[in-house]
Amino acid sequence: MKKIIIANFKMNTTPSEMKGYSMTLATKTANTKNQIIVCPPFTHLSIAKQFLDGSKVTLGAQNVSDAEKGTYTGEISASMLKDLGVEYVIIGHSERRSRFKETDRMINRKIKTALSYGLKVILCIGEDLATRGAKQAGAFVRKQLDDALKGIYENELEGIIVAYEPIWAIGTGKSATVKDIEKMTALLRKEISSLYSEKAGENINIVYGGSIDLNNYKKIISLPCINGALIGGTSLDVDNFSLIARENY
Ligand code: PEP
Repeated sequence: MKKIIIANFKMNTTPSEMKGYSMTLATKTANTKNQIIVCPPFTHLSIAKQFLDGSKVTLGAQNVSDAEKGTYTGEISASMLKDLGVEYVIIGHSERRSRFKETDRMINRKIKTALSYGLKVILCIGEDLATRGAKQAGAFVRKQLDDALKGIYENELEGIIVAYEPIWAIGTGKSATVKDIEKMTALLRKEISSLYSEKAGENINIVYGGSIDLNNYKKIISLPCINGALIGGTSLDVDNFSLIARENY
């Protein structure tokens, strides 16, 4: 089954390293049916574009401003990304929510801005350990989803991939279990169905992220309930990421 495999480098690697990474990934994944999206830091996007052109790999950014242009020193706009040939942008990663205080309202504005410039969105949602411990995870991610999608039309959902990333599983080496993933994705599909339609709930692309590695990727990504995976740490090694990206699920 065709899957969506996404790499999130976070703030790792240098632009010079991107050339070799891109060339190796492009070669190693030349025959895959999967959709591969690589999200390096902003500084790497140009060089990645140059060496991924004509390959199976598409390019994503890790963030975008909610504003279109103007007096926002240090920010990167959707039109800048679009102009570079970027197709996707990660919005609402838990590290942006917690370290940079991004709110659900801001995330909603970012999604609208990104979509209006023709960028596709990888929307991250997921609960922390305390919320899970209090048995509130379902309600919490439902609200994150509702708030993020306010004012988004059903026909725009094809430009959105929902990434379920429980915070307690990100970078901890402790992935969510198959049962956790099945339960949460069912809940998210049900929520999308009630917000839009039954068909929208079935069709929405949902990926899982959190401590996917060479030992667990096959079991997780093969799950019929998910459309793919978002991979952080393990994506930094191009051989490991290529192996996961070209696998036949
Ligand atoms: C992430 O940063 O989105 C992520 C899933 O990280 P890791 O794979 O390292 O847990």
